[in-house]
Amino acid sequence: MGRFQYSLLEQAARVPGKPRHKTREVRIGTVVIGGNNPIAVQSMTTTDTHDVEATVQQIHALEAAGCELVRVTVPKPEDAHALTRIRERIGIPLICDIHFDYKMALAALDHPIDKIRINPGNIGGPERFRQVVRKAKSRGIPMRIGVNAGSLERELCEKYGFPCPPAMVESALRYIEIAEEEGYYDIVVSLKSSDVLVAVEAYRLYAQLADYPTHIGITEAGKPPYAVTKSAAGLAPLLLDGIGDTIRVSLLGDPVPEIAAAFDILQATQRRVRRPELIACPTCGRLAIDLEKIVAELEKRLAGKRLPIKISVLGCVVNGPGEAREADIGIAAGNGKGMIFRNGEIIRRVEEAEIVDALMEEIARWEQDNQHRLPPQRDAEGLGRRRLPLISS
Ligand code: SF4
Repeated sequence: MGRFQYSLLEQAARVPGKPRHKTREVRIGTVVIGGNNPIAVQSMTTTDTHDVEATVQQIHALEAAGCELVRVTVPKPEDAHALTRIRERIGIPLICDIHFDYKMALAALDHPIDKIRINPGNIGGPERFRQVVRKAKSRGIPMRIGVNAGSLERELCEKYGFPCPPAMVESALRYIEIAEEEGYYDIVVSLKSSDVLVAVEAYRLYAQLADYPTHIGITEAGKPPYAVTKSAAGLAPLLLDGIGDTIRVSLLGDPVPEIAAAFDILQATQRRVRRPELIACPTCGRLAIDLEKIVAELEKRLAGKRLPIKISVLGCVVNGPGEAREADIGIAAGNGKGMIFRNGEIIRRVEEAEIVDALMEEIARWEQDNQHRLPPQRDAEGLGRRRLPLISS
C-alpha cells in the first residue's frame, strides 16, 4: 500500500472541464443569452447618455472592439428622451441602467430598448418594482435584476449582519418571485461585489437555486492592469464552474479595453475560443532559437484569425515535443532548427528562418482539413484536437 490513495486518480475525470450551468434562454434584441449560446461580452458607456453624439460615438468604438451588448445609464428624463435616437444609430442591443427612480425605468420602457437593468436594493421597494415588471412584460423587454453588495436592501443587511452572499442571493430570489407572480420570466440576474470572494460565492449559491441566466462581473474593479487581474481572479472560477451567460469586465476609464480583457478571460477559460491559442514558453538558458521574434511574427500574422486551434511554440527539446504533441500544430526547437508537429506526429523539419512560414502553411492546411468541423461563427467552447468542436452558433 502506498502512502497516497491512487484509486482516486482512476476515478478522476481525464478530460477536464465542467458543463455550463443550465440556464433559460433570454433574448436581448438580436442576441440570445443563456442555454448553450456563446457567453456574450458587454460593456457600459461613460458618456452623459443625453449627449447622443458622444454616446453613439463611444458605442461605435465598443462595437468595433467586438462588444455585443451595450448599457447606458438613464438617471434623468433627458437621458430617457435620447434612447430612441441612440438605438437608431447603433448595431448592438441597447440596455438601460436604472437606479433609485422607478419612473426612469417606466420612461425608458417607452423607447425601443432591448433590456432594462434594475437594482432591487434601490428601486423603491417591491410595489414600484412590480410596476416596472408589468410595463416590461407588456413591451416584451427583458430585465436584469442586478443585485449589488454595495446597495443591498437594509432589511437584508440587518437579517444577515452584512451584505454577504446569502443576503445578495435572497435579494435576487425575492425579486424573481415578484416577477414570476406577474407571469414575467425574461430575467437575467447579477450578484456583483467589488470583493472577489463575495461575488464568486454569491453566484455559486445562486446557481444552486435558480436557472435564470447570469450576467457576471466584479464591480468597481478599479484601474488596469490590476483591475484586469482582479476581474480574471473573480470571473475565471465562475466560468470554470460553468456559471455565466454574459460577462462584463469593469475598468476605470475608457470602456473599450474592457472588451479585449473579457474575450481574453473567456479564451483562457476555454468558454469561448475565438482565436488561435498560442502556447509559448517563457524561455530560459536552454533556448535554442529566437523565440520572442518568432512568437511576435506569428501573433502578427494570426491577428484577426478566428480559428479555435492550439499552436505550441517552444524554445527547446525539454518540453517542446510533449507540448507540440498536445497541440494541433506545434514546433519543438533545437540547434537553430524546428521540428513541426501536427496531431502529435512530426511532419517536417525546417531551418529557424523558415519556422513562421512553415507554421502558417500548416495552420492553413489544418483550417482547410477541419472546415467541416468548425462552428459556423468560429466561436468554440474548448479547443484542441481532443475537444473540437463543442459549440455553437
Ligand atoms: Fe527553457 Fe526549453 Fe522550457 Fe523554453 S521549453 S523555458 S527554452 S526549458
